[in-house]
Amino acid sequence: MADKRDYYEVLGVSKSASEDEIKKAYRQLAKKYHPDMNPGDKEAEAKFKEASEAYAILSDPEKKRQYDQFGHAAFEQGGGGGGGFDYSNMGDMGDIFGDIFGDLFGSGSRTRRANNGPMKGANVRAGIRITFEEAVFGTEKELELNLKDECEKCHGSGAKAGTSPVTCTKCGGRGQVTFTQQSLFGMVRNVQACPDCGGTGKIIKDKCPDCYGTGYISRKKKIQVSVPAGIDNGQSIRIRAKGEPGVNGGERGDLLVEVAVSRHPIFQRQEYDIYSTAPISFAQAALGGDVRISTVDGDVLYNVKPGTQTDTRVRLRGKGVPTLRNKSVRGDHYVTLVVQVPTKLTNEQRELLQKFDDAMNGKAPEEDSDKDKKKKKWFEK
Ligand SMILES: [Zn+2]
Ligand SMILES: [Zn+2]
Repeated sequence: MADKRDYYEVLGVSKSASEDEIKKAYRQLAKKYHPDMNPGDKEAEAKFKEASEAYAILSDPEKKRQYDQFGHAAFEQGGGGGGGFDYSNMGDMGDIFGDIFGDLFGSGSRTRRANNGPMKGANVRAGIRITFEEAVFGTEKELELNLKDECEKCHGSGAKAGTSPVTCTKCGGRGQVTFTQQSLFGMVRNVQACPDCGGTGKIIKDKCPDCYGTGYISRKKKIQVSVPAGIDNGQSIRIRAKGEPGVNGGERGDLLVEVAVSRHPIFQRQEYDIYSTAPISFAQAALGGDVRISTVDGDVLYNVKPGTQTDTRVRLRGKGVPTLRNKSVRGDHYVTLVVQVPTKLTNEQRELLQKFDDAMNGKAPEEDSDKDKKKKKWFEK
């Protein structure tokens, strides 16, 4: 999983920055790194995307609240919105960027995207189930999936060989229709995908028999999923360019694989720490000594201190889950030692235990004799 910078850091503003400060900071970055100003500069493009993502979250009060509370995890967890930040939706976010780019670059930068230019394909979602240990140490999984590919017969046009799609008359090939609507805020211009051609701008008269005019053929594909060490239940892995094909030469969408982690019979996980309980005998608790404890790295010997009480929690440093950022940095393993009371005793054991108990009540160990005398006096009164 890619490391992500803090959104406030990306925009260079403080956590208490006002809406205006956030907007101003983003405007400056957008101006500096916008792809139109830096043609062919991949680094600028990445910076632009990063800043845009940060702004998309921090300019939306609800998303900002979630981010402030949960950080990036708010948008990485499964369920709800799931699967990390979706660049393919950025086109739909035209409204929040509109007022910024509108005056920065004129309306050009928006309409060009909306026009029949290259569009990234849709993301595809899938799920895998892995064991607790696989989540801790990472694993490789193979996923079988139906993926769309461009039809070889018609090269994605959807038209029968020898024919070609014709320009849609309803939208004039733009793929969109515009209408104005009265709203609370006055007349609003709305853009919608053309209902006749479904947004492609073209109408297919004679459909390609191989793909039934869709331009795509679905095939079962095997995909390798590298599950990083430290992944948690509900998190998603993004596999670039394994989603649906793009339109008009656009890049493929991504595959988002949500990970379900099975429960472990003895280990429980919280963030990067592991919790478990381990039984110790009464004698071990009283006398101290080495106790065998199961960890994800195998059994370890832990030296229990003499006089250990039941429910004592000990920490095994670095025996927890590796962090996603750096797998050599690991959480801890907390073990609760539970003193076991024997339920079945032989006659000999019972006698010994009785002797032991008598000794505890009668003659106390030397160092405690003073305390014991006081106790006796108290009883004698
Ligand atoms: Zn075809
Ligand atoms: Zn149309």
